[in-house]
Amino acid sequence: MNNATNSSDQSGIGLDTLVIGGGQSGLAMGYYLSRQNRKFLILDENQRIGDAWRQRWDSLRVFTPAKYDGLPGAPFPADPLSFPHKDELAGFFAEYAARFDLPVQTGVRVERLWHEGDRYIAAANGHRWEASNVVVATGAERCPKVPRFAAELDPSIVQFHSSAYKNAGQLQDGPVLVVGLGNSGAEIALEVSRTHPTLAAGKPAGEIPVKHGRAAARFVLPVIRFAGLYVLNLGTPLGRKAVPALKAHGAPLIRTKTKDLAKAGVEFVPRVAGVEDGVPVLADGTRAQVANVIWCTGFQEEFGWIDPALLEDGGMPRQYRGVALDSPGLFFLGQDFLYAATSATLPGACRDARYLASKIPAPVTRGSALSVTQARGVAHSSLPE
Ligand code: FAD
Repeated sequence: MNNATNSSDQSGIGLDTLVIGGGQSGLAMGYYLSRQNRKFLILDENQRIGDAWRQRWDSLRVFTPAKYDGLPGAPFPADPLSFPHKDELAGFFAEYAARFDLPVQTGVRVERLWHEGDRYIAAANGHRWEASNVVVATGAERCPKVPRFAAELDPSIVQFHSSAYKNAGQLQDGPVLVVGLGNSGAEIALEVSRTHPTLAAGKPAGEIPVKHGRAAARFVLPVIRFAGLYVLNLGTPLGRKAVPALKAHGAPLIRTKTKDLAKAGVEFVPRVAGVEDGVPVLADGTRAQVANVIWCTGFQEEFGWIDPALLEDGGMPRQYRGVALDSPGLFFLGQDFLYAATSATLPGACRDARYLASKIPAPVTRGSALSVTQARGVAHSSLPE
């Protein structure tokens, strides 16, 4: 285990709040907890702060302009209308943790979380941490989703999920089938089409009808950000209607559009329906004779390491806006559509972190007139929503 910062006592004894996951969501949470002078600790599986971004493909630039890529208390240090490279974002997160002296212990993958008495217990590698409150900020892209029939592909076909894609050098000669036309699928298809004949299977969930770039960052993305934060959320009638549909269909294409793919020579094909004799078969019955398959089929949330007693029907947390409804002191942050269309993006996660920090019960201090039960019900209201 590594201590990314050497600040406070990281023994895990007498913690008020434990944050599991030290990506942007966990760090934003840490910022608010430190402002509340709580005794907290952030645990992260990766070796370095920012690794979740570093591990993504080599050429990746964020689609949110730098003006929206800051964390609480620190704007992103770049031209506000530019689109930072993923490694710049990772470096910024590491500097952020150091600047605000956030206690982050890296190299710790929490394997189990459960409730005992009035404390939560997290366990990893034979160690345990106890806290009154736990914030699960483990990210929405933890568990790649790949159709079962992927296992039936002939071993001579190179295949991997978009989360393992780095660059076209991982591919063998011959055509590539990119399965899934969300933002990752579109960007990866465009990149590999420069070196390989490329087929793109599936349909995008719409497209933002403007060219992505500096002008969009100035005039259009602010409107989209506003809608994603303040309109398309569970607090508005429109949001309550739209969010489940958006969740089911995914986000529209933001930067790389179908016309860019067509121009690059990408061939659009129907969705992949299965595998026959080791070859992918499309919905129209065609066999796609390809040498490579990249599954850009998204992610699923995975809370198997959390005691099922803390989850609804043993699977997902029953929560509203990240506050677990049946487990006082348990919070979730950074999941897709947790509250708004932007909840799993930088602006949305930072807003959700500020809200959650205001909902974590005030620590009970010796001599306080509050009982534990009362304290659990008290919203820490020093921070604005
Ligand atoms: P993560 O960054 O995934 O961080 C979670 C952390 O938790 C990780 O460090 C992981 O190691 C740790 N962890 C997980 N499980 C455990 C465990 N059991 N114990 C200990 N630690 C654990 N958003 C934008 O706003 N703008 C963009 O341009 C943008 N581009 C994106 C491009 C791609 C390809 C993807 C996949 C996402 C993009 N996003 C973007 C969405 C989002 O901002 C990122 O996914 C971001 O990384 C989410 O931050 P997070 O902190 O919630 O989760």
